[in-house]
Amino acid sequence: MITGIAIFAHGSAVESANEAVRGVVRQFADSGEFELVEPSFLELGQPNLGGAVARLIERGAGRVVVVPYFLTLGKHLQRDLPKLVDEQRALHPGIEFHITPPLDGHPSLAAILVDRARAALSCPMQAVLESYRELAPGVRHFNFAVPSVERLDFAAGQFVSLSHDINGKHITRAYSISSAPRGDNRFSLCLNLVPDGLFSPFLFAMQPGGAVAMQGPLGTFTIRDPRREMIWVATGTGIAPFRGMLDAWLALPRAGRGAVTLVFGARYPETLLYRDDFAAAAAAHPDFTFIPTLSRPPESWPGARGHVQSHAIAAIGERRDVQVYICGLKAMVDDLRAQLKALGFDRRQVVYEKFD
Ligand SMILES: Cc1cc2nc3c(=O)[nH]c(=O)nc-3n(C[C@H](O)[C@H](O)[C@H](O)COP(=O)(O)OP(=O)(O)OC[C@H]3O[C@@H](n4cnc5c(N)ncnc54)[C@H](O)[C@@H]3O)c2cc1C
Repeated sequence: MITGIAIFAHGSAVESANEAVRGVVRQFADSGEFELVEPSFLELGQPNLGGAVARLIERGAGRVVVVPYFLTLGKHLQRDLPKLVDEQRALHPGIEFHITPPLDGHPSLAAILVDRARAALSCPMQAVLESYRELAPGVRHFNFAVPSVERLDFAAGQFVSLSHDINGKHITRAYSISSAPRGDNRFSLCLNLVPDGLFSPFLFAMQPGGAVAMQGPLGTFTIRDPRREMIWVATGTGIAPFRGMLDAWLALPRAGRGAVTLVFGARYPETLLYRDDFAAAAAAHPDFTFIPTLSRPPESWPGARGHVQSHAIAAIGERRDVQVYICGLKAMVDDLRAQLKALGFDRRQVVYEKFD
């Protein structure tokens, strides 16, 4: 009797995840041990189990082994899969059906985890530069991909740690991710060229296709509770994590998020990075307020003037129930934290990231 194998996965709204399952199924088929192998999905992917079984029978299977591509015996394997297989038994009375256990409990699983942990320590990932664009004089937006992973898991606001040998020294620097997770292996950075610096000139000399060693994502500069009202305060490239956080926050349902006020300080209008994006978001979403402020404004500047600290304090007003997030160079971050402390803010209400 010919045996057909239906690999049964959950399925994902991210089609590349479903494609990854199909890739595993192809590898399974390439092993040559079983002639008939088909992928199937519980939901969000095609075909479903019925489709895979029909195809196996069409190809001559008289026996179907359903192999769950699931780690543990959760509700989908306890409840959904037996029901689906019973439906197939009723539809195909002449066919024998078997279901195998989930993957955990198999000794190879622990070995895979050990392997993964070792790999993380011995060989950092490579981030490959895909493209870049100038945001302002000496400031660039970089788009990277990490080809060794299908999906880069991170929370908006986290940073990556990049390293490279420069002038015979191994140099490592942190950079906040300026994009929100997109379910793929891509991320963006927003970088200032420090002309006498070591690492930023190396990144600015990089061309698309170039690679740099990367670790992470790391850090805890992430939205603690999106339901709370938040004041976000940034200067210069300190805006980077907020760009990703804004996209992640906008993706939440309106009822599940507290209002956000972004106070962003720069010297000149042209160094208000991503200004048009923030202004457009503020125009489209009444619960997002954008306060750009310039320390060296031209006469024609119609907006706020002066340092971010005073505008942040003004935006907070009498309220003491807001969560304040601050990102930028040490002098600004320390000064604002001291002012908030003097106003009675608890340490846990102030989340910050210092770049130097
Ligand atoms: C968690 C974290 C996240 C960071 N995220 C970013 C980011 O998203 N974008 C970014 O441009 N930098 C970021 N930095 C700063 C970055 O790690 C480097 O310090 C910066 O690129 C300078 O490195 P360098 O080797 O070129 O200069 P170095 O040789 O290290 O020279 C250091 C000098 O650069 C100054 N400096 C550091 N960062 C900046 C900056 N952003 N703008 C102007 N002067 C600076 C320091 O005050 C110091 O005077 C981050 C730092 C940390 C700790």
